[in-house]
Amino acid sequence: MISANAVMNGSYDHGEVARSVVIAITASYAALDLAGRVTAARGRVRLAWLGGGAIAMGIGIWEMHFKGMLAFHLPVPVEYHWPTVLASFLVALLASAVALYVSSREKMGPAEALTGSVIMGAGIVGMHYTGMAAMRLPAVTRFSPLLVTCSILLAILFSLLALLMAFDLREETRWSVPRRLGSATLMGAAVSAMHYAGMAAADFIPASPPDLSYAVTITPYANSGVVIATLFLLVAALATSSVDRRARVEVSEQMRQAQEDLARVTRVVAMGELAAAIAHEINQPLTAIVTNGNFSLRRLESGTPNANDLRAAITEIVNDGTRASAVISRIRGLLMKGAPIRTEVDINQIIQDVTNLLRIELSRNRVSLSTELASDLPRVPGDPVQLQQVLINLVMNASEALRTSTDGGREILIRSAKNPDGVLVQVQDSGPGVDPELGDRIFEPFFTTKANGVGMGLSISYSIIESHGGRLRIVPTSTGALFEFTLPTDGAAAS
Ligand code: ADP
Repeated sequence: MISANAVMNGSYDHGEVARSVVIAITASYAALDLAGRVTAARGRVRLAWLGGGAIAMGIGIWEMHFKGMLAFHLPVPVEYHWPTVLASFLVALLASAVALYVSSREKMGPAEALTGSVIMGAGIVGMHYTGMAAMRLPAVTRFSPLLVTCSILLAILFSLLALLMAFDLREETRWSVPRRLGSATLMGAAVSAMHYAGMAAADFIPASPPDLSYAVTITPYANSGVVIATLFLLVAALATSSVDRRARVEVSEQMRQAQEDLARVTRVVAMGELAAAIAHEINQPLTAIVTNGNFSLRRLESGTPNANDLRAAITEIVNDGTRASAVISRIRGLLMKGAPIRTEVDINQIIQDVTNLLRIELSRNRVSLSTELASDLPRVPGDPVQLQQVLINLVMNASEALRTSTDGGREILIRSAKNPDGVLVQVQDSGPGVDPELGDRIFEPFFTTKANGVGMGLSISYSIIESHGGRLRIVPTSTGALFEFTLPTDGAAAS
């Protein structure tokens, strides 16, 4: 039996303890920051961030523990079995990879958070006790079961805390840096508490000299060298992360600008195509106003004006004036420069609006427009004005194609239907159709087969649908041309 007196008295170098806590906080900050990068990335880049992040975070956590062990001084020389030290580092790496993976996923339910924290906690405990097993000193280690249990529970608790914080901080906000700093301090304190509880769980009882094969002494130089290398690595990881974040932000400002410009160009082009229809729409009420005005004047000049006739004529003047002003407001709405909007759109409503807008122009071309609209459509996120423009482009193209057809009816059919991830809209005409040899070239900017065509309508429509997360395509059909586009219910993410 070993007497309690035989336990070696160890002491802590407080400076080293403080430095280990600083490393823990820095590693935690890097971990929280890198979790955000893993979340933001996709495909191979995501894998690269996960790998790089796990290495930086693994080294950080491992170095904190190792530093904590070096902060503990025993009255006997201590060497370290380097293969075991390496094994403890690999365990830290694995725990970090699990932590980054779990906290960067799209969803983290209670089950995932708990499983993740048990795996991560087990990894940290494994790293800590493997690290202690690497110690070579003329003593045997005796563990207090109560304190070991405490350190395990603390590790799991700390992991849960870390995962929740990292998950919560993944999205970039104005408060990201101060919040990350606060969370990192808490996490760093928790890692340190776990480590020092684990150290307190161990007593060293003098024994015969150990087997020193593969053991190395950690000199003060090596100790400081590892700290500097770790901090350098963490700072490099943070700097790379910051550059990546800035680049992403910049690309997404530029993209928004390009989209806004595109939306504006679309409106202007749609305006050009609509010019004739609008002139007609305004001209009609104006002619009616002049006719009714002249009629009223003649009645007044006749000396015996009929009040009922005058009331009817003036009422028509007011109605026609209101109609003309509604047309003007619609044109202003189309021309206004504005950021792309995402609202919950009822696509059937958009189809009806466009049908109403183009009714007169189509009837002038003797084109009959019919609709087959599904009643159970989900709403989809989208910009109503942009979607109107796409439909106007497709219908105007169909109408133009029908102008050349002399035989058979001039018909346009707009259909809406539900599809697995949102809605499907089709515009079909009974015209000559698109030459299959042209293929997808019709979607290229400035491609036109018309003498006075611009060749931008389909290309802009394609971009608009793409920015909504959907697809615009031409479908082979036996009669005329059939264009269709999809709009997903989760299309907001794509914009
Ligand atoms: P534009 O109408 O100015 O030519 P678009 O990009 O809208 O530009 O259309 C590109 C080309 O696609 C048209 O010139 C035409 O050849 C073809 N196209 C588009 N819609 C139809 C249609 N409904 N029927 C036949 N051809 C069409």
